[in-house]
Amino acid sequence: MQGLKGLRDFLRVRTSYDVLPLSFRLIILDNDLLIRKSLNIFIQNGIVSAPLWDSHNSRFAGLLTSTDYINVIQYYCQFPNEIDNVEKFRLSSLRDIEKAIGVLPLETVSVHPSRPLYEACSRMLRSRARRIPLVDIDDETGRETVVSVITQYRILKFIAVNTEQHTSLLKQTIREIGLGSYRNLATCRMTDSVLEVVNLMVVHNISSVPVVDKNNVVLNLFEAVDVIPCIKGGAYDELKSTVGEALAKRPEDFPGIYTCQEDDRLDSIFQTVRQSRVHRIVVIDDKWHLRGIISLSDILKYVLFHGDEGEQYFPPS
Ligand code: ADP
Repeated sequence: MQGLKGLRDFLRVRTSYDVLPLSFRLIILDNDLLIRKSLNIFIQNGIVSAPLWDSHNSRFAGLLTSTDYINVIQYYCQFPNEIDNVEKFRLSSLRDIEKAIGVLPLETVSVHPSRPLYEACSRMLRSRARRIPLVDIDDETGRETVVSVITQYRILKFIAVNTEQHTSLLKQTIREIGLGSYRNLATCRMTDSVLEVVNLMVVHNISSVPVVDKNNVVLNLFEAVDVIPCIKGGAYDELKSTVGEALAKRPEDFPGIYTCQEDDRLDSIFQTVRQSRVHRIVVIDDKWHLRGIISLSDILKYVLFHGDEGEQYFPPS
């Protein structure tokens, strides 16, 4: 509890500005851009999300992420005759697509960059967003400006790098604190089609699916971002290819997947977050059988809300 209290105090005195690097680039896409073109921009720039800008009203118009492309795929599957229209859709039509397939609307939650980091975290967890745009008001024009986007990944990295004195106190094991999900796990096989896995992600509202063999041994992990190369250039037919084929499209410098065991301690998880590019951790047993999955949101939720303190803390918007 002392370690957690230290982390919470840290998150209350730091702001989102503190998390940003000294120098960074930000790619913002105009809402009038064709969805197909936005996909190319993602691939060319190696990015997986971008804020949208409504240039008619000079307003922030939400955040584009791989989930939106997954929604377009769902739309294409439900209305196959619409394929020619799908090609013509602009980013501003994403709302209509979401309405047509009955999913939650595009994420528009944002936070001011000088608010406490704790607030950015709790807003993300509350809205189930994995990243949140930092939106400020320009003093001169009084209009919104998008400063950057921070992700759960970046925040956990920031915590792990700067608070070793607190994280090193978190000696309980994953099993003891029940970190992650262990029941009703969504899994897939190498031979399943990408489309089947996309459906699993939509139905369970998750961003990754462990790939297992017939004995439940973990072979890999299919992530929402793995869908992007499959729909490059509007080639939706590639969604019929197998998970194995899609995983072969990963960049050469792909770091691999991270695993842990239920007897590993939370401080060692923070050590891994400090040293590597971890987005989620697959929990396995001695023989590599799948036991569970720990998402970054599971870790962040534990840090913010575990125990009685903070459980009810939702700052005013
Ligand atoms: P994040 O919100 O960090 O991107 P996910 O969307 O993957 O993570 O996970 C959301 C919740 O669903 C977490 O509590 C996580 O433990 C759980 N979860 C993640 N993947 C799976 C899966 N394949 N099967 C069942 N539950 C999962």
